Amino acid sequence: MPTRVLPRSFRNLLVVVFGLLTLVVGLPLYLYSSSIHRDQLIADRQENLHSLAMATATVLAENLIERRREIELLAQTTAFRTEPLDSPNINAGLDRLKRSYQHYSWIGLTDTAGRIRAATGGQLVGIDAAARPWFEHGRHGVHVGDLHEAKLLAKLLSSEYPGQVVRFIDFASPVYDDAGNLRGVLAAHAHWQWAGYILRAVVPLNAAEDAIEVFIVSRDDQIIYPEGGFADTRVPARGSNGKQADGFQDWGGVQPYLTAAHAVAEPSGDTLGWRVVVRQPRDVVLAGVAELQRVILLTTLVALVVFLIFAWIGAARVSRPLAQLTDIARRIERGDEHVDFAVSVHTQELQCLSQALGGMAQTLMDQKSALLAANHELEDKVAERTAELSRLNAELQLLARTDALTGLANRMFSNERLAEEFVRFRRTGVAYALMIMDIDYFKKVNDTWGHPAGDAVLRHVAGLLRSTLRASDFVGRVGGEEFMVILPATDLEQAARVAEKIRSVVEATPIAPAGTVTLSIGVHVPTLTDADEEAALHVADRLLYAAKQGGRNRVVFDAGVAG
Ligand code: GH3
Ligand code: MG
Ligand code: MG
Repeated sequence: MPTRVLPRSFRNLLVVVFGLLTLVVGLPLYLYSSSIHRDQLIADRQENLHSLAMATATVLAENLIERRREIELLAQTTAFRTEPLDSPNINAGLDRLKRSYQHYSWIGLTDTAGRIRAATGGQLVGIDAAARPWFEHGRHGVHVGDLHEAKLLAKLLSSEYPGQVVRFIDFASPVYDDAGNLRGVLAAHAHWQWAGYILRAVVPLNAAEDAIEVFIVSRDDQIIYPEGGFADTRVPARGSNGKQADGFQDWGGVQPYLTAAHAVAEPSGDTLGWRVVVRQPRDVVLAGVAELQRVILLTTLVALVVFLIFAWIGAARVSRPLAQLTDIARRIERGDEHVDFAVSVHTQELQCLSQALGGMAQTLMDQKSALLAANHELEDKVAERTAELSRLNAELQLLARTDALTGLANRMFSNERLAEEFVRFRRTGVAYALMIMDIDYFKKVNDTWGHPAGDAVLRHVAGLLRSTLRASDFVGRVGGEEFMVILPATDLEQAARVAEKIRSVVEATPIAPAGTVTLSIGVHVPTLTDADEEAALHVADRLLYAAKQGGRNRVVFDAGVAG
């Protein structure tokens, strides 16, 4: 049998049940927060990031279009259509436009050959820009050029942006005369810090707090904004549809990022191919989940501890009275009859149990007392019966030893007594006298007066023997009309005298209707030559026979005949 870790006590059971209940409630909550709440949270965050990407892309696109439109409109003004390319009005127009938007670094106008004829601050005037892409594209239509390093302007602007690689985006528009002939190309270079201003305006202030980062990514998946510091950062690959995959994406760092993207609408043609990609680290995204899980775990643990304490105390309140009742039951078991069932219980059920046990114990006690009383009564009765029985036994014993007719000892008892007397004589050497006596001509009494008269004679002789002998002497009826007398510590002379006295008393006391009856008596004092009591009895019998032979109504003893 496997050993139990804990005994199956009420308290342990309750504690285990409460623990399991807490788990049953706590676990689903924990799972909910882990799974459903997590998915919901991720979906919400994804939505937020996507909104941010879309807003940023939209504002970027609108600003690009706005810049493009500015250049386009300026190229269509009267001065640009009609005046010489280096006229003061044109120069004034360029300066006005540069001042109107802080991110313009340089705005210039070339002739059809690509030579710069007018420019803000007079910078690069006279330089040949025919090889610049913006001139190439600008000749044929309005153009927005992708980010690039400034080839011609770099040196000029090095004082304005010391130690930086200066990059620009270009806006270019052809300039036509009223006849529609190309006059030159109007171009503006906007400093790339422009992108930073736009993003700062769009991205909410708390984005940094939430570790949300916004990137502008080029067609060839390079991060073009922010600049620098992202050498190890790999923009997640786009799907086969060319769209940035969302959800958690690997950016080459230690943890994935929740990612959302939106394409920046092209301001003209298909020249940029930018997209805005927004990301947020997984840790931060799931921080809410972890926080909720922590709260639930903590709440569950606190609830568990509180429940266990309640279970422990509650079990004690229930099991203490049970233990008290058990103790009381044990005391009753040991036989203590003075137990008190006053157990302090708080529940109705235990109160009922306590009362029932009290009642049961009382009934048991009462039954025990009744049983004890009955037992005593029975014992008394048994004692009474036993006494009666021993009395009857004694009576029976007496009867067994008594001759019914005369009340004298019977033959069996007489023989016993004779044997005892002989043993005593052998041991002590103190002689006793033995007499055997027989009524003379008794048959004649019966024949003459009938059997009842014979019986009366027997009782009469017995009475005479009893009254004549001493209490210490023994007399028994050993045959029909034959008696035996034992005289303890008596010598032959004394015995002969007693025998003679008996003979004379019987002879002198007649009884009606039989009249006078006589006795013949043989007296023998046993000697050590007698082999046993039988031998002694035999001698006495012989002496009686001699008395009969000698004429009856006489005493014959060892040494001669008396009377
Ligand atoms: P003896 O002088 O030689 O003794 O002659 P006896 O007649 O006394 O002796 P016997 O042996 O011939 O007769 C004894 C008679 O005693 C015989 C018997 O009927 C009678 N008897 C024996 N027991 C009882 C008794 O209990 N009651 C009565 N009434 N008679 C008895
Ligand atoms: Mg006889
Ligand atoms: Mg006789």
